[in-house]
Amino acid sequence: MGLGNLASVLTIPPGKPVLAVATHIHVDHVGSFHEFENRLGHEAEAEAFAHMPDADTLAPYFRMQPDVLAQVPPMGTRPEAYAISPAPLTTILAENDIIDIGDACYTVLHLPGHSPGSIGLLDQKTGIFFSGDAIYEGSLVDDLPGCDIEAYKASMERLLQLDLEVVYGGHGSSFGRARLQEIAKTYLTSRNS
Ligand SMILES: [Zn+2]
Ligand SMILES: [Zn+2]
Repeated sequence: MGLGNLASVLTIPPGKPVLAVATHIHVDHVGSFHEFENRLGHEAEAEAFAHMPDADTLAPYFRMQPDVLAQVPPMGTRPEAYAISPAPLTTILAENDIIDIGDACYTVLHLPGHSPGSIGLLDQKTGIFFSGDAIYEGSLVDDLPGCDIEAYKASMERLLQLDLEVVYGGHGSSFGRARLQEIAKTYLTSRNS
């Protein structure tokens, strides 16, 4: 959310290179993105990352929540002044790009629907999949500005075909392939009826 400093609480050994990958541009995923030197995100949202407009980050939804902060955040941010710091991408990602970090190697999957530039990262060797908000345990959001139900349905069809072991979603607990298929099928049924 960017209410505190994220980089300072990560246990990153000094000198170790860090790649920060944004699964999409929403407020609850990119508030600290600007803290990192190497920033990766999908081309469909590249322009928006450079400016972080409210229309793309959806920060107004956060500002509008009643009693949004239970206590003063570390950096003293007030809800009415809350906005996301611009974080231009240093690497623009597209479908099928590879992010090789040595002990893991992720393929970028473009999974639009929840947002235009939503991506997932799949390690084809271990079957570990970071899905962002394309799919997660909890109610899926397809009715915000920038959402596209037809695109979301196509992404779900695609997710159904994936060979994977474990899904780490943007929200909720992790789950396996059977549960992924259940969530995707439930979504498709609800939007096809
Ligand atoms: Zn989102
Ligand atoms: Zn989210």
